[in-house]
Amino acid sequence: MTATVIDGKAFAAKVRAKVGTHVARLKDEHGITPGLAVVLVGEDPASQVYVKMKGKMTKEVGMLSLEYRLNADAAEDDVLRLVADLNANPEVHGILVQLPLPKHMEEAKVLAAIDPAKDVDGFHISNVGLLATGQKAMIPCTPLGCLMMLRDHHGDLSGMNAVVIGRSNIVGKPMAQLLLGDSCTVTIAHSRTRDLAEVVRRADIVVAAVGRPRMVGAGWIKPGATVIDVGINRTDDGLVGDVDYAPVAEVAGAITPVPGGVGPMTIACLLANTVTACCRANDLAEPD
Ligand code: NDP
Repeated sequence: MTATVIDGKAFAAKVRAKVGTHVARLKDEHGITPGLAVVLVGEDPASQVYVKMKGKMTKEVGMLSLEYRLNADAAEDDVLRLVADLNANPEVHGILVQLPLPKHMEEAKVLAAIDPAKDVDGFHISNVGLLATGQKAMIPCTPLGCLMMLRDHHGDLSGMNAVVIGRSNIVGKPMAQLLLGDSCTVTIAHSRTRDLAEVVRRADIVVAAVGRPRMVGAGWIKPGATVIDVGINRTDDGLVGDVDYAPVAEVAGAITPVPGGVGPMTIACLLANTVTACCRANDLAEPD
């Protein structure tokens, strides 16, 4: 293997430690405890695992963790009422409604009900617009984690060719915005992209956010490129990414593993966003 492994697990531990220090300072100097409320509707097993993990890590960094569970057959109005209560609750600085929501609910409507200042997932249309126009926003956690790893590895990203595979609102599109913000030349590829392998071969930075096990092969990668694998796919061989890790690692310059890459950074960024939201709500200096 020639690629440098970008250790998201270790990086995330450092981010969480920094968050913990900031939380302690907010408590000691200002008597404020940042609070994160997570809303889970239904019994989706993957969501339950994520929510449990988020609660555990929120407490570990010294923040207030609130968890709300609603049955899968709850009415959309129940969720909207809960979100309104959390918007009004001064102990809560961050609100996360775990997706996906049950089919009978309109995701966009629920996300739009969250106070943008507390929208630590960065999915509210106000935050989407702020990010797209280069203003101070809440930035979606997964792409933010990817950007932090890329900046840490490369320093300046300006002028690099970046290809993002996937155009979802939660990963692909905000990822592309962030890379553009860092002056990359950005291509967004998706299921209708022609000659995807050829497009990806031009990239200095590849971000794969597709949801197809091992789709990105070694032949797609320019030698020395940096490959960020967002995919989480449960297969008979266990958890795998969207990138065919072992062969790609022979060609790439740097690569994130699955598990232990983007995943841990996502939760660390959620905690960081909650502290940022808390600082903004109290007119205090934000962590950098
Ligand atoms: P979506 O299903 O919302 O989006 C997938 C995207 O991939 C779509 O834009 C789709 O294109 C594109 N796509 C699908 N098939 C192909 C193909 N054959 N060639 C090119 N593009 C294709 O997924 P998400 O963005 O929500 O998630 C992507 C992956 O990342 C999943 O594996 C998910 O589990 C993982 N994930 C990981 C997180 C983490 O913390 N590590 C957090 C969030 C997600 P089109 O739009 O044309 O349909």
